Amino acid sequence: MHVHAGPDSRPRAMNDWEAVQMAAEAGLRGVLLKNHFTMTADRAALAAQLVPDLHVFGGIALNRAVGGINPEAVRQMASFSGGRGKVVWLPTFDSEFYVKRAGTSGPFVSVMEDGRPVTALLEVFSVIAENGLLLAMGHSSPDEVLALIPIAQDQGVENILVTHVFGQEATRAQIRQMAAAGAIMELDWLAAYTNPTLLNDYIEVIQSVGAESFIISSDFGQAENPDHATGMRDFIAALRSGEISQSQIDLMSKDNPAKLLGLD
Ligand SMILES: [Zn+2]
Repeated sequence: MHVHAGPDSRPRAMNDWEAVQMAAEAGLRGVLLKNHFTMTADRAALAAQLVPDLHVFGGIALNRAVGGINPEAVRQMASFSGGRGKVVWLPTFDSEFYVKRAGTSGPFVSVMEDGRPVTALLEVFSVIAENGLLLAMGHSSPDEVLALIPIAQDQGVENILVTHVFGQEATRAQIRQMAAAGAIMELDWLAAYTNPTLLNDYIEVIQSVGAESFIISSDFGQAENPDHATGMRDFIAALRSGEISQSQIDLMSKDNPAKLLGLD
């Protein structure tokens, strides 16, 4: 559900072709290619030709490189041949929350102004709804996520994923609110790999909130980190040794991802 691969403007451990072949060899059913700066629906369609038994999906992250909150970019992404464009990420590295938290003076892309979604975002939500896409919250703040979930749902968006919810510094109360609102939250191995104490937090929320509200992903692909398949295997092994059951793993690694991507 969160695979970075090259070509990219930052160093990546492998390219799209290598990533999908590795996923097929590892026995995965599907892979979602993510890039922060360019859409991956076209790349997914090309990569999919190499691995006929693997579902390869892509999407678009609404950072400045695609014009920020740009409904036409989403519309085109959803229309590309191959039908691999499934996910719209709200701004990630260019999000207001991310840029301000980093303490840089860089430009950012706002999703809300004066407590309301920016106008173009409502149109993006409509395009997501019309095309049955998955809305992923990118690097929005937990407050923005909680405000936007019901607004997106009112526009007809059915599937909402809160991108690496711990990386966005959601509190336990906010995590429970997101679950109650019907969103699925992402737990990524990258964050726990770099900060091992996070694994205990993951295990605690899976047990207290319920595995039905989470997916697990590697978020790997960085040049310095292990490959994606190793990441998923290590993540699952770490959760299992933390008393997370196989049926909970199945919910988070199979059932929920399939639902979010529109697979049976
Ligand atoms: Zn990522």
